[in-house]
Amino acid sequence: MNDRVHLTLDEVHGIASEALRAKGFSERHAGAIADTVTAAERDECTSHGLFRIPFYVKALQAANVSPDAEPTFRDLTPAVLQADSHFGFAPLTLQLAAGPLEKRSREFGIAALCIVNAYNVAALWPEVERLAERGLVAFAFTAALQYVAPAGGTKPVYGTNPMAFAWPRAGRPPLVFDQASSASARGEIQIHLRDGKSIPEGWAIGPDGEPTTDPATGLAGAQLPFGGYKGAAIALMVELLAGALIGDVFSFEATERDAGKVGAPCGGEFMIAIDPARCVGDGNRDAQLAHSEKLFAKILEQDGTRLPSDRRFRARERTPAEGVTIPKSLHDTLREYIDG
Ligand code: NDP
Repeated sequence: MNDRVHLTLDEVHGIASEALRAKGFSERHAGAIADTVTAAERDECTSHGLFRIPFYVKALQAANVSPDAEPTFRDLTPAVLQADSHFGFAPLTLQLAAGPLEKRSREFGIAALCIVNAYNVAALWPEVERLAERGLVAFAFTAALQYVAPAGGTKPVYGTNPMAFAWPRAGRPPLVFDQASSASARGEIQIHLRDGKSIPEGWAIGPDGEPTTDPATGLAGAQLPFGGYKGAAIALMVELLAGALIGDVFSFEATERDAGKVGAPCGGEFMIAIDPARCVGDGNRDAQLAHSEKLFAKILEQDGTRLPSDRRFRARERTPAEGVTIPKSLHDTLREYIDG
């Protein structure tokens, strides 16, 4: 275990925020990014944990990222809120937007959030889970950089384009799924490369268009959508929602913006929040939630099943007491950021 370093979750947050501040992020951005990174470590989503801090730092050094931009908000209609991140990273905007989005969805039954000019290298589950914890149904979509080939093609057009969905549950954490529309998140391929492991078949093709299990060849070529043309259709939808719909860029345009080739996508994120009580005539939220539990129980009757997010919530029961471990090389990098 000498090649790993043990950290409590408080230490994860401390080292993340200290490293980000040392590299120039404002207190508020460093805090918001450290919150998402710590939540990812807590839930054992390592590809969005401390592993991401060097991406944030490199993006700040090489791209047009603002370290201290304060997001601004504008009501486009009573139920459509625009947030401009002014080329800062998304977590601060997402934290600040949750309350206003909740308020509008309660008032109108459904509300949308259109985030523009945001750098985003995070997972999407924190923002939908945050709303579902307040009793709302929530969706989030964001495009990325040009990494994924369209169905039948061999050259990247789409981003890995995640979408996330959350459903509130009475007396327990929400049901959440958050998935890339590619066969794997790009961070997973980068982790395989770092660890000297091959990637499963079906994740990527090389620059020659041939299938590959070599992570470096796959990163140089194109990632594949999950489920062939069906995943590609989701990637296409995400491009349209998080790009054209809200007046921001497609993944291939974000790649053109990424002149420093740091791999930090700058574009839009689109969210929808729904107040379930406003979707039935009598507004009986309890009945809706009780009904959804019947579906979950039916699924879980079968051996081998689980609900999306259960893995994260199981990790969340453990890591506050046990802490987490990270590679020593990553810990050394973060200490170098802090110590200069
Ligand atoms: P996974 O394939 O690991 O998981 C996708 C979803 O499926 C999760 O909600 C997971 O729940 C659930 N799941 C996995 N296995 C099962 C199962 N056996 N039964 C039921 N549900 C299951 O995620 P991806 O690799 O697709 O994406 C990883 C992350 O990368 C996401 O958080 C995404 O937002 C992020 N991402 C961010 C991008 C960006 O530009 N910002 C770009 C692309 C991806 P659980 O968590 O409990 O395992």
